[in-house]
Amino acid sequence: MSVKVAQPTAAEAKTYPREYAIYSILPGASSGTVKSEDLAQAVKQFGSGSLPSGGELSFEQVAKALHKGSTASFGQGNTVGYATKDDSGHLEPFAFDRRELGEEDIAIQIAYAGICHSDLHQIKNEWGNSKFPMVPGHEIVGIVTEVGSKAGSHFKVGDRAGIGCFVRACQDCELCHLGDDQYCPKMVVTYNGSDWGDDGRPTQGGYSDKYIINHKFALKVPANLPLVEAAPLLCAGITTYSPMKHYGLDKKGQKLAVVGLGGLGHMAVKFGKGFGMEVTVISTSPKKEKEALNTLGADHFVVSKDEAQLSAVANSFDGIIDTVSAQHDISQLLPLLKTNGRLILLGVPPSPHSFAAGSLLFKRLTIAGSLIGGIKETQEMLDFCGKENITCDVEEIDASYLNTAMDRLVKNDVHYRFSINVLNSIVA
Ligand code: NAP
Ligand code: ZN
Repeated sequence: MSVKVAQPTAAEAKTYPREYAIYSILPGASSGTVKSEDLAQAVKQFGSGSLPSGGELSFEQVAKALHKGSTASFGQGNTVGYATKDDSGHLEPFAFDRRELGEEDIAIQIAYAGICHSDLHQIKNEWGNSKFPMVPGHEIVGIVTEVGSKAGSHFKVGDRAGIGCFVRACQDCELCHLGDDQYCPKMVVTYNGSDWGDDGRPTQGGYSDKYIINHKFALKVPANLPLVEAAPLLCAGITTYSPMKHYGLDKKGQKLAVVGLGGLGHMAVKFGKGFGMEVTVISTSPKKEKEALNTLGADHFVVSKDEAQLSAVANSFDGIIDTVSAQHDISQLLPLLKTNGRLILLGVPPSPHSFAAGSLLFKRLTIAGSLIGGIKETQEMLDFCGKENITCDVEEIDASYLNTAMDRLVKNDVHYRFSINVLNSIVA
């Protein structure tokens, strides 16, 4: 059984952004005919109203059925979300004001937001630069609900859109021209930043119901990727894809090691396999072995605490992608590289690494780092994921679970990314 729904107008998308996004995600919505079971299920999951029976429905009738009351006492502001007020990292309901839509802006109703370990570092001020109150979240996907007068050739109302780790760069410097806009000195981070293009307003992230962003820094999310699993591509995906491309660790037959099988690490494994490489996971967690091999498709698994297992893979890798978030000994990893091998550091432990110069020069090794990726390359990565059907393995949660999720992330207990269902659980 199917049901016809009148096409929502731009005005209706603006008035009912959340309900519009929920409806737009249903298969068939763009043609105006959806399965009755799908619509009924959406009303049951997200709404608190009921649908009239028989005949074509107006969008307003659908929106009213999908509507539900506030999920928390957020306070006053045009945007609601979850913030930590201090370095306790405790997240609680919070309201704030995003800017009004500018001519180059789009408004995105957030559908899902991933929880990156960087969010955890920052809510606890582990990098020493946190500003509070802080709404974290830089792995954002949702539906475009409003389009500024100069943004319409790029996005239209109803498009699936993503936001990664930054929301502005100057677009005029050498780095921006090279497509390395993530390194632009005027780059503005998605949260915990201050937006020079918006009177210095503090930026607040994706653990919230909407984002207003200049369309040039928003991404298109391929239609075949489920949004809940696509959200973490916006950081975990691009952060691993970009250095693999940049440092030439993307060639068929090369041997790659991925250290740390978490949000970033499991994406590095997927990209490595997508590029045709032989991938070894190096992990502190023996319990992750079975799934790494059988589900993620890694070729080998090495337990880093076992010296014998490490020695067995000495001098064998073209590259190592190190995603470990905590203090660990990188001098243990250098002997595993072939001559000319590269160790790419992606994790940001709070204190410095140490290693002996000799361990580099006798094999002409490179130790390098890499920060997320540029907008153009992020789009390239998303399109690659669309083509290869690559998404993140997620545990979907409601916002009420956020503090428990953070506690579990501290304990290295997540499979492999939490993805917050914003449409269901962050409702004004
Ligand atoms: P995550 O999901 O928590 O994964 C980190 C992994 O590191 C864990 O799954 C664990 O893997 C390993 N690990 C944890 N504690 C360890 C310890 N004490 N010793 C050795 N290994 C340990 O974190 P994530 O979201 O992937 O982020 C990883 C790091 O990358 C964070 O520091 C984050 O801030 C940083 N990051 C950097 C960028 C960038 O642009 N460079 C972007 C995003 C995130 P095993 O159980 O397999 O050992
Ligand atoms: Zn991140």
